[in-house]
Amino acid sequence: MTMFFPEDCLILVVDDVSKNLQVIVEMLQNVGYETTFASSGQQALERARAAKPDLILLDLMMLEMNGLEVCEKLKADLDLTDIPIIFLTASTEQEDLLQAFEKGAIDYVTKPFHAAELLARVRTHLELKLAREQLKKLLHEQKVLIQELERLATTDPLTKVFNRRHLLILAEQELKRSLRYNIVFSVLMLDIDRFKQINDTYGHAVGDRVLTVMAQVSLNCLRTVDFYGRFGGEEFVAFLPETDIDEAIIVADRIRENLEKTGILAQEQQIFITVSIGVASYHLRDDSVDAMLQRADKALYRAKNQGRNRVIADLL
Ligand code: GH3
Ligand code: MG
Ligand code: MG
Repeated sequence: MTMFFPEDCLILVVDDVSKNLQVIVEMLQNVGYETTFASSGQQALERARAAKPDLILLDLMMLEMNGLEVCEKLKADLDLTDIPIIFLTASTEQEDLLQAFEKGAIDYVTKPFHAAELLARVRTHLELKLAREQLKKLLHEQKVLIQELERLATTDPLTKVFNRRHLLILAEQELKRSLRYNIVFSVLMLDIDRFKQINDTYGHAVGDRVLTVMAQVSLNCLRTVDFYGRFGGEEFVAFLPETDIDEAIIVADRIRENLEKTGILAQEQQIFITVSIGVASYHLRDDSVDAMLQRADKALYRAKNQGRNRVIADLL
């Protein structure tokens, strides 16, 4: 928590009687506040905009533009609306006070005022303002932290795509939706071919780069409604909502072809990799995402056995 120091606070004093200005400014300065002043409503608005004070002591009765009007204009300005305004009023102006509060004043002091009372109210409102600002900052920091935690919990640190856990949560939701509205829904299971060889030949760092490229190429071939993630090792999964098996095969082939064409830098040379993909669609018999994944996995296994770099669909 930031401590309260009068030296850190700038107070704008507004009064059209110069003697009043002098007395108040001196009183504030004596206890350490920074001060600035204005002797008309118009000047007050200009000073407020330029100096962004922490608090304003505003005379209610002024010629030309009175304090109420100044207050209204300050509160309408998004940059200045949070500055607390304390009205300085003569005891005969009590009726106007109600209006002052309606226009956004936080407090008032009646003239002739006691120094101790004025200073006490000034300090209270400055401290409250500081506390509000600290709370706002704290809430913002907390929000950023929660977002960061959510990101960490849902994404794979290497490729930045969804992790297995999050992918399965999303897939369960999609499966429920498909069941309820009787809509098709497909899944691709993708596994990089002979990935172990890449690691063994070029090292783990190149292997990691291959995984990142794989994720990027896949994402470029998918729609924003699809969800894609790393299932583990060099295995990735894509869920394609409202997509039947024929459309899913087309998407899978697009990923396979694009990956095949993408050169990846490995020790000053370009290497090329391929992927095998198993495709399955949601079927009424499927009572879980797992049942669907198992069928996609079987198709993937067949793709590997038939020579890799191909798409095989589970056609039931
Ligand atoms: P196949 O064509 O049959 O899929 O052969 P493969 O070599 O791709 O499959 P295999 O399952 O034999 O090897 C997978 C390799 O992936 C082994 C493991 O060391 C590597 N691997 C798993 N996770 C990572 C990782 O995060 N980074 C890197 N660089 N390698 C990884
Ligand atoms: Mg593999
Ligand atoms: Mg594998």
